[in-house]
Formats: sequence, C-alpha cells, structure tokens
Amino acid sequence: MDFQDSPSEAAFRAEAVAFLDAHAPTEFGSYTSGDDQELVFRRHVAWQQELARHGWGALTWPEAFGGRGKGPIEQIIWNEEQNRRGVGHSMLQVGIGMVGPTLIAHGTEAQQQRYLSPLLHAEEVWCQLFSEPGAGSDLASLATRAVRDDDDWVVNGQKTWCSGAQHAEFGILIARTDPSVPKHQGITYFLLDMGTPGIEVRPLVEMTGEAHFNEVFLNDVRIPDSARIGPRHGGWAVTQTTLMNERMAMGGLSNLLHFDELKALVIEKAGGHPGALQRDELARVYTDLRCLELLNARVVSKLGRGVIPTAESSVMKLALARLMTRANELAMQALGPEALLRPGYWQNEFLFAPAFHIAGGTSEVQKNVCAERVLGLPREDSRDRELPFDELPRS
Ligand SMILES: Cc1cc2nc3c(=O)[nH]c(=O)nc-3n(C[C@H](O)[C@H](O)[C@H](O)COP(=O)(O)OP(=O)(O)OC[C@H]3O[C@@H](n4cnc5c(N)ncnc54)[C@H](O)[C@@H]3O)c2cc1C
Repeated sequence: MDFQDSPSEAAFRAEAVAFLDAHAPTEFGSYTSGDDQELVFRRHVAWQQELARHGWGALTWPEAFGGRGKGPIEQIIWNEEQNRRGVGHSMLQVGIGMVGPTLIAHGTEAQQQRYLSPLLHAEEVWCQLFSEPGAGSDLASLATRAVRDDDDWVVNGQKTWCSGAQHAEFGILIARTDPSVPKHQGITYFLLDMGTPGIEVRPLVEMTGEAHFNEVFLNDVRIPDSARIGPRHGGWAVTQTTLMNERMAMGGLSNLLHFDELKALVIEKAGGHPGALQRDELARVYTDLRCLELLNARVVSKLGRGVIPTAESSVMKLALARLMTRANELAMQALGPEALLRPGYWQNEFLFAPAFHIAGGTSEVQKNVCAERVLGLPREDSRDRELPFDELPRS
C-alpha cells in the first residue's frame, strides 16, 4: 500500500492546510482537557459554525446538502490536519458524523430540508438516545416503548449514557413499537425535540469529575409521526446506518494520543534518562500507535473501495482501547506521586481511558466479533433473536 498522498490528495491537503492556517482557533479544548466544559462546548459550536460558513462543515456529505462531497481518504487527511492544530474531535460529532449521514440515507425530503442545514451550521445540536440500563451491547433488547396515538407516538422509558444531552436541541431515539415480534423487528427510529414536555435530563458525573453523560427519562413524551425515520417497526436498519458511522469515527481517535508529549514527559520526569522498562514501554506504545494507524489506513482503503469493514474495525477498536490504557498508565508511572494531583492533563486522560473499552462497542464484544469472523468459532447462542420480544426471559 502506498501511504504517500496522490497528487489530488496532496492538493486537497494543501487546501485544508491553507484554510486551517487562516481560520483554526488557538483555544479549543476537549472532553478530557480539564478546561471548563461549558466553555469548550461553546468553542466547538463556534468552530463548527465557522467551518460550515466556509464549506468545510461536513466533508463527506453530498454537496446538495451543504457538504463537500469528499470520500473517506479526504476525511482522514482533514482529521489529521485538524488534529495537528488541536481542533479535531468535536463535541458535535453525534450530529455531523452520525445524525447527518442517517438523515441523508433514510430521511424524507421534508426532514432533510428541516434538519440538515441547522445541524451543519451548529444552530441545533443533537444527541444520541440509544443505550438503556438494560440494553447496551445488546441494543436490540431496548425496552423504551412508543405507542401510536392518532398522529403521535407516546414514549415512555429511560435512556442512559447520552453524551451531551444537556446541550442538545434534538435527539435520535429508538423505541420499541411492536413487542409481539422478535426484538430486532419491532423497533422504530425517531427524531426527538428535546424541549418536548415529559423529558428529564439528569447528568451523570464520571470519575474525571465532569458530567458528559446523562440519563434521560421519557414520561408520556409525544412525538409526531412526521418525526419518524424509516418505516414503522423498521428502525433497526436505520440504526445500523447510525452505528456504522459511529464505528467509522472511532478509527480516527488514535490521534487523541499525543505521543511526542508523552515521550517528552517520560524523558523529563526521568531526569533525561528513562530506565530500561520505561524505554521498553514507550517503544511498545509507539509500535501499537503505528500499527493502529496502519489498521486505520486499511479500513479507510476498504471504505474507499466501497467495501464495509467488519472484523477490521473490531480489531481496530480493540487496539485503540489497549493503546489508550497503556499510554496513560505509562504517563502515570512517569509522573510518580504527582499523578495523584488534580487537575492535570495526563491525570484526566488516565481517568477517561477506560471509556475507550466501552464506547462504540465494548472490548469483550469486539473479541466476540473477531472470534466469529476471523477465527471462525461458532456464533454465540442467539436463540433470543427468534422469540417475540415480550416472551423473552427477563431478570
Ligand atoms: C464515552 C462513551 C460515550 C457514550 N455515548 C453514548 C451516547 O451518546 N448515546 C448512547 O446511546 N450511548 C452512549 N454510550 C453507551 C455505549 O454505547 C454503551 O456503553 C456500550 O454499548 C456498552 O453497553 P453497556 O454499557 O450497557 O454495557 P453492557 O452491554 O451491559 O455490558 C456490561 C459488560 O458485559 C460485557 N458483555 C456484554 N455482552 C457480552 C457478550 N455477548 N459477550 C461477552 N461480554 C459481554 C461487556 O463487555 C461489559 O463488560 C457511550 C459510552 C461511552 C463509554
């Protein structure tokens, strides 16, 4: 595989660099940067607005919807250049990276007209209301109910882990609309106005001390049928589009690890001369990081050929989680007793690292995928796929 930019990719990179040099903000921050999260959120909104104003708001969306019509390779180049300036990994990723592509693939023309432009210009922010206390890895087990009432659906249930729901004007919601059929077949996909009466958003404080996630309680929440995406009871296929886009976004996350800064930290804290064990671990982290970049390139090259990667993205997700854990443990070792002090950049990164083993599919579930699709081991027992949802045993 040739990793050099082709002439057209080099031209695109030059265009991206010129734009970023002229426009990228110097103050940005992230989930884990330890900065005031309200301030970080406002900066991310402002940056998305600036990007959209100049036609860089959604690289891979078709031009007809305000995107740039580019492919996954250009997206990678754009991510690399944004990350180089510390302005990647937007808090608005759910909207741009997941809701937009889902609306483009499955929305009606009226829905696309109504929602895509305000989303692109960060005038309306979106969150994802999929996971529930009893439905995460096995998302199709979700129990939130939506019952038809005239032109509306009435929704009752609880969602959890909803990143950024406290900032969101809208959410993508999946709910059970027919419990009498097997679990994947009775789900419907909705767009939810977060200002609707009956919605309660409760922040969940995680061990970083921040509250990125929320529980969202839905009590007799009315959603008009016009806010349904895809067919009644046919929301699982729409969900797959959202989840595929989420998985694709995970690949670029290795850029979150600032290896040069980690190396500098290890050297500085060891008085210029890290011991054999630290040198060994630093080399291992570097090797893992490079392998992950190559895996990412493989996934992207498949996508570029129109092939959907399956096992590769699971291997990539596993490698990412392992890398982030190792790298941040090394930083803690290097800091020594200082690691106990808060706030601090590496301390925050360390406390957030376990999330990489969970978000976008847990490490255990990725191992199952690899066991089945790479090693050819038998599938997990899945008899519950055939039974009607309301006959499934429950704890
Ligand atoms: C940073 C972050 C952001 C997130 N943002 C959102 C969001 O915005 N919206 C949203 O809807 N969700 C979000 N999630 C939720 C995420 O999708 C779920 O956490 C994930 O799907 C796992 O589900 P769970 O937490 O319910 O764990 P469970 O599925 O309950 O799993 C519990 C444990 O059992 C293991 N396990 C489960 N099934 C198997 C199996 N078949 N074989 C072996 N082991 C298994 C798991 O690996 C895990 O260790 C977010 C999560 C994180 C960490």
